[in-house]
Amino acid sequence: MTIERRPVTALKGVGPALAKRLGRLGIDTVADLLFWLPTRYEDRTHVVPIGSLRPGMRAAVEGSIELAEVVFRGRRSLLVRLADGTGFLTLRFFHFSGAQQQQLVRGARLACFGEVRRGKHGPEIVHPEYRDAGAPDTQAVKGALTPIYPVTEGLQQGRLRNLTAQALAAVDDDGLPDFLPAEVERRLGLPSLGEALKYVHRPPPDAQLAVLEAGRHPAQRRLAFEELLAHQLTLRRLRNVIRRDPAWPVAAGGTLAGRLLAGTGFTLTAAQRRVIAELRRDLAAPHPMLRLVQGDVGSGKTIVAALAAADVVEAGMQAALMAPTELLAEQHAQNFTRWLAPLGLAPLLVTGRMPAKARREAEAALAGGAAGVAIGTHALFQDEVRFAKLAFVIVDEQHRFGVHQRMRLREKGAAGRYPHQLVMTATPIPRTLAMTAYADLDVSVIDELPPGRTPVATVAMPDSRRDEVVARIRGACLAGRQAYWVCPLIEESEQLEAQAAEDTAAALAAALPDVAVGIVHGRMPPAAREKTMAKFKAGGIGLLVATTVIEVGVDVPNASLMVIENAERMGLAQLHQLRGRVGRGSEASSCVLLWHAPLSQLAKQRLAVLRGTNDGFEVARRDLELRGPGELLGTRQAGLMQLKVADLMRDADLLPGVQAAADVMLRAHADNIAPLERRWIGGSNRYGKV
Ligand code: ADP
Ligand code: MG
Repeated sequence: MTIERRPVTALKGVGPALAKRLGRLGIDTVADLLFWLPTRYEDRTHVVPIGSLRPGMRAAVEGSIELAEVVFRGRRSLLVRLADGTGFLTLRFFHFSGAQQQQLVRGARLACFGEVRRGKHGPEIVHPEYRDAGAPDTQAVKGALTPIYPVTEGLQQGRLRNLTAQALAAVDDDGLPDFLPAEVERRLGLPSLGEALKYVHRPPPDAQLAVLEAGRHPAQRRLAFEELLAHQLTLRRLRNVIRRDPAWPVAAGGTLAGRLLAGTGFTLTAAQRRVIAELRRDLAAPHPMLRLVQGDVGSGKTIVAALAAADVVEAGMQAALMAPTELLAEQHAQNFTRWLAPLGLAPLLVTGRMPAKARREAEAALAGGAAGVAIGTHALFQDEVRFAKLAFVIVDEQHRFGVHQRMRLREKGAAGRYPHQLVMTATPIPRTLAMTAYADLDVSVIDELPPGRTPVATVAMPDSRRDEVVARIRGACLAGRQAYWVCPLIEESEQLEAQAAEDTAAALAAALPDVAVGIVHGRMPPAAREKTMAKFKAGGIGLLVATTVIEVGVDVPNASLMVIENAERMGLAQLHQLRGRVGRGSEASSCVLLWHAPLSQLAKQRLAVLRGTNDGFEVARRDLELRGPGELLGTRQAGLMQLKVADLMRDADLLPGVQAAADVMLRAHADNIAPLERRWIGGSNRYGKV
C-alpha cells in the first residue's frame, strides 16, 4: 500500500485513540503526516557559550551550578546560578519540588534549554528544560535542528517527532509519488519533493535558522509552489463547475437602468461603461456570472452594481448586495433607496441586529418576492433567509470574505438555478496575485476616476504637532468643509478601541468649541450610528471622530480633510482605503498621517509611499515590495486561502510559474490533479461542495 493510502494506524505506537486525535487535525494517512509541517525550529545541536547569549534566543547551554538558593521577593522562587567559564546564567523556577531542590545543588552539571531573557543580573531563563549533563537529550533530534510542530491537546511534540520520523523512513523505503510533471519540476530548479520534506522536517545542524524561519529556504519554496498549484487547480476546477451550473439569463434592454442613471445626473466614465457592458454580457448567459470588479477607492463601483441590479429587478428577479460591515450596508441601502425609490422600488435592509419582528417581515418579503433588492451584511445569507427568485448576488469589498463564504451564496438560488455573482473590491492587487487568489473569477477593472476629482494631498507629521492639526480642522470646518479624525486601531479589543475614540472625541470637542463633533464606532447601536452618519452627511457635524469602521465605502463628498492617528501602525492598503474617504468632491482634499515617535525605517518608507502617490495599484505594488511580516493585506489575503506553507505576498514571484504549471497539468496530467489537491487541501470542503 502506498504511503498515501496507508492509515496512520500502520505506524508503531498509533492505536485507535491517537488515530482519532490525528484525524481531528486532518491527518489520516502516513503521507498526511509529512504535510503536517513544523512552524519553527530549535537548535539543540549547538551548545551556546553563556557569554554569547542574547535576550530572545532559544538556546542550549551547559554548565556547573555555582549557587542555588530559594529567595522570597514578592514570591518564593528558586534561583540557580550556572557558569561555563564564559559567563553566568540565572535559571529561575517559580514552581519547584523538593526533589528538584535536591538535584539542583552546587557542583551539579546541567544541560538546559530555553528562551533567554534579560534578568537583573545578566541573562536568565525562566523554567528551562534541563537534565543532568551526562544524560541523553530526549527532546533533541539526532543530527538535526529540532522541529516544533503545531500540536493540540493530547498530542505532544515528542509524539509528533516520532511519527514524522517514521513517515520519513517510510518515504525512504517506499517512495512518495510526485505529482508535479517532470518538465515543471525541471524548470523550477528546486529540491525534489522528498528532499524538500526531509529538509523541513529535519533541517541539518548547519541550516540557517533565519532563512528557514523567514520561509525563504529552497525546500520551503518547493513546497509552497506545490501548495499554490494545488489551490490554483482547485479554484480553476471550482470555476469550471460553477460555470456549468444553470442560471437565470437576464435580458437587458429595459428602461429601468436608464431612468436610474438619469436620476443620478452622472455621466459614466468610459471605464464604468465598459464594465457595465461586461456585466450585462455575463448576466445574459444561462450560466452564472463570476466576476470581480476591481476599482480604486472612489472609482464609482456602486452605481455600476446598481445599474446591473436594476436590469435584474426589471426582468422580474431578485438581487442581493452583501457588505462587510453594518455601516456600509446602511450606506448602500441609503444610496439604493435614493436611486430606486423615485422609480417605485424600495430596497430592503437586512442586518444581524434587526429586531425580530422587522426581521421576520423582511424574510417574508424576500421569500414571497415582494422585495426586489435586498441589502445587508452576511446576515443576508443565513439559512432562514430565503429568496423567491434570487438571480444576482453582489459582494462589496471582497477582501473581507473568503472563497468558502462566497460558495454559500451559490446555494441561495431557487428552482435549481444559481445566482450570478459579482464581487467588488477596492484593494487593487497585482495581476498575478489576482489570478491566484481569485482564480475562480473573471476580472474587470475600473481604472478611471469620475471627472472633477482633485488628488488628495497627503502629509505625514509627528503627533507632537497635533495642535497645528487641530487648528487646521478648525479652519476647514469654519470654511464650511468637513473632516474625519480616525483613531488608532486596537486589534485586541473593540471595546478599548471604542473607549479610546470616545476619549479622543471628548478632547477634540473641548479643543474645538465652535465645531460640531460627532463620533462613530463599532460598538454603537446601529440606530445611533446611522443618525450620526446621516447628520454628518447633511453637514450638521463638522468633525467626525471614527474608528477604522469607516475604512471601507463611506461616502461623504463634502468631507475634505482626514487625520489618521498612529498611522505608522496601519497597513498601506488600509491607509489608502481610509484616505479614499476624502477627495470625493470637487474641493481640494488633504490627508494628515500622524505618527508617533520613534518611527522605524520601514514605517518611514511606507508613509512616504502614501505621500508619493494616490494610485491604489501603485500603493499595492510598493506594499508588496516593502511588506513586513504580518501586515494587513498579507494577513487578509492569507486568510482567504488558508495556506500552510506558502504566503501569497512573500511567494508572489512563484505565481507566474504556478499558473503555467496549472496549464500543463490541466492539459497533459489531469490524473495527477485530484491527488495533488487531496494532499494539500484535504478532504475538507474548504471551497464548498464541489
Ligand atoms: P467606490 O468605487 O469606492 O465604491 P463609490 O461607488 O462610493 O466608489 O463612488 C464614489 C462617489 O462617486 C460616489 O459619491 C458616487 O455617487 C460618485 N460617482 C460614481 N460614479 C460617478 C460618475 N460617473 N460621475 C460622478 N460621480 C460619480
Ligand atoms: Mg464602495
